[in-house]
Amino acid sequence: LVELDRAHLVHPVASYRGHEKAGVRVLKSGRGATVTDAGGHELIDGFAGLWCVNAGYGQERIVEAATRQLRELPYATGYFGLGSEPAIRLASELADRAPGDLNHVYFTLGGSDAVDSTVRFIRYYHHALGKPEKDQFISVMQGYHGSSTVGAGLTALPSFHAGFGLPLDWQHKIPSHYSYRNPVGSDPQAIIDASVAALRAKVEEIGAERVAAFYVEPIQGSGGVLVPPDGWLRAMRDTCRELDVLFVADEVITAFGRTGPLFACADDDVVPDLMTTAKGLTSGYCPMGAVFLSDRVYDTIADGAGAAAVGHGYTYSAHPVSAAVGLACLELYEGGLLDNGRRAGARLMAGLHAMADHPLVGEVRGRGLLAAVELVTDKARKTPLPAAADPARRVFDRAWDNGLVVRAFPTGVLGYAPPLCCTDKDIDRILERTRRTLDQTLE
Ligand code: PMP
Repeated sequence: LVELDRAHLVHPVASYRGHEKAGVRVLKSGRGATVTDAGGHELIDGFAGLWCVNAGYGQERIVEAATRQLRELPYATGYFGLGSEPAIRLASELADRAPGDLNHVYFTLGGSDAVDSTVRFIRYYHHALGKPEKDQFISVMQGYHGSSTVGAGLTALPSFHAGFGLPLDWQHKIPSHYSYRNPVGSDPQAIIDASVAALRAKVEEIGAERVAAFYVEPIQGSGGVLVPPDGWLRAMRDTCRELDVLFVADEVITAFGRTGPLFACADDDVVPDLMTTAKGLTSGYCPMGAVFLSDRVYDTIADGAGAAAVGHGYTYSAHPVSAAVGLACLELYEGGLLDNGRRAGARLMAGLHAMADHPLVGEVRGRGLLAAVELVTDKARKTPLPAAADPARRVFDRAWDNGLVVRAFPTGVLGYAPPLCCTDKDIDRILERTRRTLDQTLE
């Protein structure tokens, strides 16, 4: 398999480095929070695949729902006024639970095309209102919004831009709230004030009449699990409303119990104008994303003058098998997984905070089952691990040998997002294997 993989399978480009030399690690099976590789090595999946297998592996209810739907009707297009029962039911169940008036759901295949879809919906919305000049978009440094051209442009990770003329000329950024190394210091109110001021300044620079929307992740995931201060999300939301800028919450990572509730916006009691989700929506059992649109945005597009010119859609939008899986996931979340995830999250955060005195640990941060440990060589100076030593690869390899899958960011940050079904024992294993990995990294 390793040879065939090397010869023929193209992996996500971001993971080329190291993989080619070391060879692929082939996963064979999963149960609960545990995965087993082709050689029989068992590991705790501390990252739920790619922060997506929220329900955990081997959930019979999901397997049954998918199998039943595959037998009954494996495909139905959403075009030409057609649909399928699971997609309609899932849209309705999600709308019932979404914040505020996010009552309209558009299904995609994942997160990147969900973000792309919001850009199109927002442009159609402003067209319908007779304001086509509102065509400029703002997002946050260290943010991630996908790998498509539009999503990668809204993303603020340089490796996604080089050579493609990204960001596009209508895509702008403001600095992140990242508190560990923030020029304004770590005081929460100072960080909130700086972000609000940066957004105002950027809108003023572009011209308020031209700014269409502002994108945030409730917690920045791929930038290194950067948690904003309490009240940050609300302050940004309020500023957008005041400036007549649509507020988009990208909850691709944070939704479906990752931080505690079904949607992380609820943590700050915030209702966005549009919201994107994917990952936990189907827990990785089938690909699917969902865009949520508020009544105001949806009704304006649907009734607006520009409706005839609206063109957007995917062959596999609202796929019935994915939708059946989504319904089963929702049942599992509400049938106990959300509660279990909250308990497990508290245990994980307490255990990671107890490691703060380790010589390599600069900061521990997170919420619920979304956490990170930032590694440094000098705590007082906050010196990152030397890039030449490729700490991400080495820490990842060591953790793997210790029976733990974690995300090791190139910046020397360890990311955690284990499944919501984690038992106390699973969490304790994650913690014990993390400590062992850190001790070995010191040697
Ligand atoms: N938005 C956010 C916040 C994400 O974290 C991701 C994926 N990590 C995406 C969008 C893109 O999702 P996908 O990989 O499913 O296209």
